Amino acid sequence: YRLDQYRHRYPHCWRCGTPLVFRLVDEWYISMGPLYDQPREQLTREQVDASLRYQIMEVVDRIRWIPGFGHERELDWLRTMQDWMISKKRYWGLALPIYPCEACGTVAVMGGREELRARAVEGWEGLEGHTAHRPHIDEVKIACRVCGAPVSRIADVGNPWLDAGIVPFSTLHYREDPAYWQKWFPADFITESFPGQFRNWFYSLLAMSTVLRREPPFRTILGYATLFGEDGRPMHKSSGNLVEFDEAAERMGVDVMRWMYAKQRPEDNILFGYHTADEARRELLVLWNVFAFFVTYARSAGWDPSDAFAPAISERPVLDRWILSRTAGLAAEVRASLEAFEPRLAAAALARHIDELSTWYLRRSRRRFSRAAEPAEHASAFATLHDALLQLARVLAPVLPFLSEHLHQVLAVGIVDAARDSVHLTRWPDQELAPYRDATLEEGMATLLRAVELGRTLRGQAGIRVRQPLARLWLALPGGALAGSLNGARADELVGLLGDELNVREVELIGDESGLVKRRVKPLLPVIGPRLGHQIPAVMAAARADEVEYLPDGGVRLAGVTLSADEVEILATPLPGTAVAHHQGVVVVIDTTITDELLIEGHARELQRALQDLRRDAGLAIADRIEAWVEADEAILARLDPYLASIAQETNAALVHQGPAPAGAARGRLELEGRPVIVGLRRCDPLD
Ligand SMILES: [Zn+2]
Ligand SMILES: [Zn+2]
Repeated sequence: YRLDQYRHRYPHCWRCGTPLVFRLVDEWYISMGPLYDQPREQLTREQVDASLRYQIMEVVDRIRWIPGFGHERELDWLRTMQDWMISKKRYWGLALPIYPCEACGTVAVMGGREELRARAVEGWEGLEGHTAHRPHIDEVKIACRVCGAPVSRIADVGNPWLDAGIVPFSTLHYREDPAYWQKWFPADFITESFPGQFRNWFYSLLAMSTVLRREPPFRTILGYATLFGEDGRPMHKSSGNLVEFDEAAERMGVDVMRWMYAKQRPEDNILFGYHTADEARRELLVLWNVFAFFVTYARSAGWDPSDAFAPAISERPVLDRWILSRTAGLAAEVRASLEAFEPRLAAAALARHIDELSTWYLRRSRRRFSRAAEPAEHASAFATLHDALLQLARVLAPVLPFLSEHLHQVLAVGIVDAARDSVHLTRWPDQELAPYRDATLEEGMATLLRAVELGRTLRGQAGIRVRQPLARLWLALPGGALAGSLNGARADELVGLLGDELNVREVELIGDESGLVKRRVKPLLPVIGPRLGHQIPAVMAAARADEVEYLPDGGVRLAGVTLSADEVEILATPLPGTAVAHHQGVVVVIDTTITDELLIEGHARELQRALQDLRRDAGLAIADRIEAWVEADEAILARLDPYLASIAQETNAALVHQGPAPAGAARGRLELEGRPVIVGLRRCDPLD
C-alpha cells in the first residue's frame, strides 16, 4: 500500500477556527411519537393520543399565524422532525433531573426540588443554599426504587430551548400559583424573526404547552424575515453596509426608523440603511410641512382655539367636512389594523391620509388661511386643520411616538382646554370622531378625485401648464352623480373644487360625452366578409363617408345593413380644440382653446407665483408687507395692468409699481411669451 496526501473538507469551530473532532456520543431525546402514513384528518383519537407530534399539530391549528404560511411551516417541521434531542455535553446549564440506576437500569426523573430532597440518600447538605445547578446538584444521590442502589444524576445539561419553551409556565408560577397563571395564560401575542424559529423557540413553546395542557401557549404569532443592508446583502463591517443602532437612531431619528419597520411587509427582508431612511423621512416631511404651515399661519393670524369663533362642522365648507370625515375613518381603520396585529396596514392608512391632507385638503384650502379670505371660511379653515392635526397626532401616537407628541405639545398643551399632558395619555379618538363620518361625501370626493386625475392627465398631454386658465371642462359621471344621494349645493361645492384645482373657469356636468367626441366606425372586414359578401363595398363606402347610424346596443347601421358591436370598432376622437379622458365611468373633456384673455390671465398667475417665490427667497414673514416692481415691455405690461391689484392682494403688497426696482430690492426673473420680465420687491418700511 502507499500513503498519499488528499485535500478534503474538515470541520472547524465557526467562532475560533480550531479544528474539531467528531465523536459518537449518547444523548437524551423526547419521543415525538409515530408518524402515520395517512392524512391527518383520517387519524383516530387513539392515534393522536399516542403521538406527541399530532397533538402539537392540533395546537398549531388553533393559533393565528402571521404571515399565514407560518402555520404550514410549523406543521411541516412537525411532520419531518425526528425525536427531540434535549441534552448537551456542557457544564453550565439546566441540570437534567434524570437518574438512571447503573445496577438495574431503572430510570427515575425528579419532578422538583422537594421530590429530590425526599429521595436524597446523600449529599443534600451540599445543595442546600444553592440553585439546582452543577456542581452542587451532583453531590445529591437518590436510592433506586427497584434495587436500592445509590443513583447519580446524568452529567448532561439541557438544551437551552427547554428553558425558552417553559417560560409561559415557569415565569407565570404555574405550579406555585395556578390562579395567577390562569389569569395571564396564554399570551395574546409573540413575535420573533422566523428564520430558524419554527424548529426552535416557536416549537419548544408549543411542545411544552401541548405536553402540560394541550393548549396554545399564545394566540397570535407574528414571524418576520430578517434585516439586510440596503444593498440587499447581509450586514457586515467588512461589506461596508453595517449600520449600528445607536448611530442610526441619532442620524435618521427613531420615528423615521419606526416608520420604516411599520411599513415593512413582515415576510420580506427589510433593507436597512440611510438611503431607505431618507425615503421614509420624505413621507413624514409631508406631514411636518402641513404642521409647519398651520403653526406659521396661526401665529401670523393670532389664531387661538380658545377664543376663535368656529362655525359648526355642518356649516363648514365641504373640504373641511371631508377631511374630518376622513380623519374619523382613519381612527377606526388604524384601530382595526392594530388590533389585528397588522401595523403595515395601519401605516399604509396613515401614509394615505397624510398625502390626502397635504395634496388635497391643504392644497385646496390654502387661500382660506390668508387674510384676504372670507371670515367664516377663514375661521373654519383654522379650526378644521387644527382639529385634523390634533386627531391625527393621537392616531399616529402608537407608530410615531415622538413626532405625535411634538404635535400634541405644540397644538394642544396649554392651548386647548382640558388637554392631556401627553398625547400618550389621550383616549383612542374613534368613538369621539364617529359623528364626523359622512360616507356619501367621501364617496363623492373619491369620484371627484378621479376626475381631477383625468384633468391633470389631459393638461399634461396637451402640454398646458396648470397656471394657464382654461375656459371650460365637461364632466360626465357614472350614474350622473358624484355619489348616490349627493346633489344640490354640496355637489356644486365639490364640482367647484374641480374647477379650482384644474384652473378651469366653468365646469359643466353632462350626461355622456357623445356630443363632445367625433365618432368614426371601422367595420371589421375579416369578421363581416363571409356574412355580407357582395354588400361589403357599399358598407365600406358608407363607413368612409361617415354615413352611419349608431345603435344603443353598440352596433351600427351602414348602407341599410345592421352590424353588431363585435363586428365593428368605434373610434372616438375629441372634437377639435378639446381633449377627452375616461376612467371607471368618469369622463372629462377639456376645452384646450386658449384665448388671449385666458393667456394673459395665465401670465398674471405666473407673475404672482414669481413674486411669492421671491418673497420666500428673501426670507420675508407672511405678515410682512411689501412693495413690488414689474419691469417688462410696454405691450405685456399694458395687458397685465388689470390684474396687478389682485396680485398685490395675493402677495400682501401695498403697491405694485410698473418699472425697474430700485437698488437694494430683491430681484427675480421670468419669461412671458419668450420675453424677459424682471420682478423686484422689498419690505415696506413699517413707518410708511
Ligand atoms: Zn472555538
Ligand atoms: Zn436499580
